Amino acid sequence: LMRESYLNEKDVGFKQIKQDLGHVVIVGGEGKLGQLFSQMLKLSGYKVKSLDKNDWQHADAIFDGAGLVIVTVPINVTCEVIREKLTHLPEQCILADLTSIKEKPLAAMLDAHKGPVVGLHPMFGPDVGSLAKQVVVVCHGRQSDAYQWLLQQIEIWGARIVEAQAERHDNAMQLVQAMRHFSTFVYGLNLCKEEADIDNLLQFSSPIYRLELAMVGRLFAQDPELYADIIFAQEGSLHAISDYLDNYRDALAMLKSGNRQEFVEQFQRVAKWFGDFAPQFQHESRAMLQSVNDMKAG
Ligand code: NAD
Repeated sequence: LMRESYLNEKDVGFKQIKQDLGHVVIVGGEGKLGQLFSQMLKLSGYKVKSLDKNDWQHADAIFDGAGLVIVTVPINVTCEVIREKLTHLPEQCILADLTSIKEKPLAAMLDAHKGPVVGLHPMFGPDVGSLAKQVVVVCHGRQSDAYQWLLQQIEIWGARIVEAQAERHDNAMQLVQAMRHFSTFVYGLNLCKEEADIDNLLQFSSPIYRLELAMVGRLFAQDPELYADIIFAQEGSLHAISDYLDNYRDALAMLKSGNRQEFVEQFQRVAKWFGDFAPQFQHESRAMLQSVNDMKAG
């Protein structure tokens, strides 16, 4: 129902929180996320200009009178673009970014611009049908009063704002994104190398396996560059992924040694660590599996 009401809103537009902004410039505005934010802002009554990689010769004119500049270029050029090209924005202009990592871009924005600065990380891809219930992480930079309206605007779109400290966000992302996407990648790679017959696998699968396979398969319907960016962007990710491999290797050794008792003990240790989340997740996933079942029937 939430989703439907959002879609209706998307047809008619959204309430505009800030009336007297001047225009918005999206650096990287022809990109996937840039287009999504451009669309959302336009649907909310803002005037939006794009500045993509071939537009820099017109930069002065495009930035003139801007009230908000949003940087959404590939991760590997983000800090360079900020430090080299965004040092002469109008003083009261808000400088924001949508980069999947936060610490370095935020530091670069604070150095380049003296006015309001905010780091944003939309925790979703451009293929979401709606922003309803999606999360946008906010890392505060400077003069938060000046960009409070932007956070409210994002909430009007249906998203949930979650505040985080940039370094902690980046550390969490190593586990939540880099390690998870990398292990999904390896899972897919393994199915591919083993020449698994997907049709056949699905025939034997209960809803839970279908859901799991869908989560793996959907990765490969997306842009490899995006995932390469997320996985390769941070040195810390390599550590998180290496730790995962170590744990896998130890678990494999336990399996090879036939130590069933140890497996049970480790299992219980993890279950204890999950605590109340384990039954909670079991409960939640039951509802999800029920809807997968319904979908297949319908
Ligand atoms: P994209 O490749 O679709 O878009 C990037 C855009 O930046 C392109 O239009 C490109 O031409 C432009 N660009 C490249 N160099 C430029 C330069 N020097 N000056 C101006 N424009 C330049 O990428 P995307 O998926 O939209 O991702 C953009 C940002 O959003 C990244 O920082 C990424 O971490 C972040 N992000 C992406 C997703 C996602 O799922 N796509 C999710 C969350 C965050």
